[in-house]
Amino acid sequence: MDNIITWADIALIKKTAKANKQAQPLLSHTQRLDAAAHDLYGVRHFHEFQTRYHAQIDAFARRDESGGAHYCKYCRFTFDGSYAPDVKTHRELHKRFEEAHTTLGYLPDGYQSREKTKRLGYDWMLSPNKHTQREGALAVLLAQFERSLESAIEAGTWPKHPYFPEYVSFIIGQANNIPEAIRAGLEIEFGRVDVIPAGQSSWSSRFATPARTTAKAEILVRSNDLRTSIIEATSNFDKADTLA
Ligand SMILES: [Zn+2]
Repeated sequence: MDNIITWADIALIKKTAKANKQAQPLLSHTQRLDAAAHDLYGVRHFHEFQTRYHAQIDAFARRDESGGAHYCKYCRFTFDGSYAPDVKTHRELHKRFEEAHTTLGYLPDGYQSREKTKRLGYDWMLSPNKHTQREGALAVLLAQFERSLESAIEAGTWPKHPYFPEYVSFIIGQANNIPEAIRAGLEIEFGRVDVIPAGQSSWSSRFATPARTTAKAEILVRSNDLRTSIIEATSNFDKADTLA
């Protein structure tokens, strides 16, 4: 089988093996994994299948030119590729990014891109134009949101991470980096629920987060649309000479 294996394939085999515990009482856990791998993917052993998946993940990481650390361009993890526990940590982390990517439809922006978005955002907030001010504030908040989401993926808590419009409502009450007048407008637009403590910009699963009142599918679409519009605005700016 030459197809690309994903975390979802591995998860499905594990789930199936677990579900078959009652139906296959004479088989060991390993045998049930092998049976599920065979039924679902036509391979003989789960272990082989998983080894192939791990090799695929390992191939993402490249050693830097100095021969030092390995860096994965996908999950942006730097590690010692000759140290087995590091290799294992990378695989776990990489899987989390794959899983989040599949569910959310994107991965959070990396550091450089976030910094660029933030810089533009601060510039735009100085504009006399209210629309530009709003986009600027949202660009700054988006950069913070992307960092927050990245941390949650690393921690494995991302399924509970707020979507972008929720994030705005969770932080707007203490977002002192945004001028009062712009903040007031965002508070009306997105609502305000004080969840993220003052001085912090990342959501944590430790915070008391109210239950979502909007359907997940609906907020996901709204969040992705808003995120895309800000990203488009900031990347279009590269081509434009002047502020709107
Ligand atoms: Zn990786």
